[in-house]
Order: sequence, then structure tokens, then C-alpha cells
Amino acid sequence: MTVVESLAPRHGLRVLITAGANGIGLAIAKAFQEAGARVHVCDIDTQALAALPEGITHTQADVSQAADVDRLFQDATALGGLDVVINNAGIAGPTASIDEIDNESWSRTIDINLNGQYRVAHHATPLLRESQGLLINLASVAGRLGFAYRTPYAASKWAIVGLTKSLACELGPEGVRVNAILPGIVRGPRIEKVIEDRAAKRGISYAEMEQENLAKISMRRMVAPTDIAAMALFLSAPGGANISGQALSVCANVESL
Ligand code: NAD
Repeated sequence: MTVVESLAPRHGLRVLITAGANGIGLAIAKAFQEAGARVHVCDIDTQALAALPEGITHTQADVSQAADVDRLFQDATALGGLDVVINNAGIAGPTASIDEIDNESWSRTIDINLNGQYRVAHHATPLLRESQGLLINLASVAGRLGFAYRTPYAASKWAIVGLTKSLACELGPEGVRVNAILPGIVRGPRIEKVIEDRAAKRGISYAEMEQENLAKISMRRMVAPTDIAAMALFLSAPGGANISGQALSVCANVESL
């Protein structure tokens, strides 16, 4: 195999992606399908699930519900095993000062973003041992930097990096790789709402807040969902076979958000 050939994932990979009906998850699902993988996704958005490209199978499942995750893995047995599991589900959580955040929104953010990834990793591990596979956890650049007024989100994403590194140490000797992808600010409706909420919190306009964000990105532009999909494909390809336990940023941020 040449180096160039090693950049493409093996045809027929069996891939599970959480929150795969929209945004980054959907971009990853489409990219794997295009690379010849068999893809199963879950999401809570029934309309978007119904509109998935033909050939991508799905389960309506909320990663914060243990019974839903059980059902997701039962449905995914139709793939006959799993080679790549992508823990993508994660919510933005509240934009508020620490003294304004209520227990419920704190716990909900942690339950979806962190506990949801634990639930999926718990079920995925025996299958990945079997296939000598790969777990990819979606963290964020907020999982290596501070993020004012977005503490529960940042805390959950730093925790994902810890989850990733610990699982990589634990499962590496058994042939399973575990990596985190840390996207920067990704274009799309989710980030528009975050910019709007942070602008309101700071008492500045949307345009000013957006400019402030862009000024902290060395390339002065946001990331595309397909940039994240490209990293997931690379990690799943033979060329990525010796990468594990890493927190891989896909962004041009240097040191703050
Ligand atoms: P998004 O807000 O666009 O949502 C993607 C999908 O998640 C939606 O289809 C939604 O229905 C689904 N979803 C929400 N809660 C769910 C749950 N409990 N169970 C199952 N599905 C659920 O998200 P995105 O921007 O595509 O982000 C995907 C991942 O990337 C997240 O973990 C996010 O934290 C991370 N991330 C995103 C950005 C960004 O700028 N968008 C930056 C860094 C990291």
C-alpha cells in the first residue's frame, strides 16, 4: 500500500455515528458512505432522520437515555459488528455566568455531552475489541481553552479529552484506538445561536461578536462540517493506524475563544 492509498478508509467499514442527522454528524455520515462504509446513525430529530440519504440506516435515540442507547446498539447489530464508533452527540448548553446557571441546565449539558459519550463507549467497547476498531469522541477547541459564559459546555468537553486519553490507555493494548476531535467554530445554525447569545451577554452586536471570534482565528474563517469529516476519515484509514489517545484540533485558533 502506498502512502496515498493509506489515506482512504477500507471499503465496507461498519460505522455508527450518534447525532448523525444534522450538522457535523451528517457530514461525517455522508463522507463515510461516500468512502464505501455501511453507516448507521441515531438522532432525536425524527424529521431529519427521515430525510437521511438512502442507504444510511437509523435509530431514533437520545444519548441521555440509557434505554435508547441499548436500543441503538441492538439496531446496529444489523451491521454485523462495528469498526468505527463516532460519539458526536453534544449540545451547546447555556450561555450564562456561573452564578446564573441553574442545576438543571448544568446537569443536562453534562448528561448529554459527557454521560452520553460514556453510555455509547460502554456498549461500543466489546464490539471494537472484536473488530480491533476505533472510537472517535467529538470534543471541542473549548476542551483545551477557556470559554467565558459557556462553562458547562467547556467543562464537558475537557472531560471528553480525559475520557478519550483514559480509554486509549485502557484499550490500546487490546487493539482498540480512541481519539478525540476538537473542532473549532464550525459554520452553521448552532454557532449562529451561540454568537447571538454571547453577544447579548456582552451587550454587543452580533457582527461585533462574530468579528471578535474571527479575530482569534489565525485564518480568519470558520471551519466547515466537512473538515471534521475529513479528520474522521483519516483517523479511520490505514494511515491513521498509529494515532491513539490524541486530542486533535481541527481549527486555526491559537490560544483563546
Ligand atoms: P448540532 O447542534 O448541529 O446538532 C447535531 C445533532 O445533534 C442534531 O441533529 C440534534 O438533533 C442531535 N442531538 C441533540 N441532542 C441529542 C441527543 N441527546 N441524542 C441524540 N442526538 C442529539 O451539533 P453540531 O454543531 O453538528 O456538533 C456536533 C458535535 O461537535 C457536538 O458534540 C458539538 O459539541 C461538537 N462541536 C461543534 C462545534 C460547532 O461549532 N458546531 C464546535 C466544536 C465542537
